[in-house]
Amino acid sequence: MKLAKLNGRPEIFYSIQGEGKSMGKPAIFVRTSLCNLHCIWCDTDYTWNWQNTPFKHVNDSKAGYSKFKKDEWIVELDADEVYNEIKQHPCKRVILTGGEPLMQQKELALLAQLLHDNGYFIEVETNGTLVPTSEFDMAVDQYNVSPKLSNSGNSTQLREKEGAFSFFSGSEKASFKFVIDDPGDLDEVTELISRYNIAPLNVYLMPQGTTGQALNQKQQWLVDICKEHGYNYTDRLHIHIYGDKRGV
Ligand code: SF4
Repeated sequence: MKLAKLNGRPEIFYSIQGEGKSMGKPAIFVRTSLCNLHCIWCDTDYTWNWQNTPFKHVNDSKAGYSKFKKDEWIVELDADEVYNEIKQHPCKRVILTGGEPLMQQKELALLAQLLHDNGYFIEVETNGTLVPTSEFDMAVDQYNVSPKLSNSGNSTQLREKEGAFSFFSGSEKASFKFVIDDPGDLDEVTELISRYNIAPLNVYLMPQGTTGQALNQKQQWLVDICKEHGYNYTDRLHIHIYGDKRGV
């Protein structure tokens, strides 16, 4: 499987879950490379914003930012190799994140089975555009589905896949996290959860931001919206604790 590369090694690290339903729980993160979307504010753009691609990113105007050379940012490992890395950490919760992990579910299904058979709890973070295979689904305990809104810069056609949304809205393992940049984003959330019959209690709203200050600025109005509609508020704990850093 193709994983993101960090300091010459696969990006596998022990930290705490910073967002959503399991926020605050210690967990081992495995970051896959590749994504089928191109969110303009993505903080893991080293998994997809390759040289010679047309995708835009909010950092384009920042001095020193440039697109990534694909073969320098990917490392390939098989399921046993990834499992051996995971075993080094004193924790039985694994989060498969990305990029978009479901782009590689054939390879990840082997890892997920291995982890499942050895007593691990497996969370998968996904943008909700791809349907899990039954082999993969059998080994997964929790899906953290984060459907993207128009604030991501992706077209509706790319980011909203009816079959996949219907799968996740019908799965007891799934909760839904929406990245909110502006109160106006709420109309889209309301429309989506009504179309796919998602219960408000299963919805998490998270402020968009990659600094503690940016998150705090949106916190008050977002909490008020959660109170009004019965949604959950989720912060980005890792940003407050570590800042916008990789591998922590
Ligand atoms: S779906 Fe996730 S990994 Fe992919 S571009 Fe959007 S934020 Fe980044």
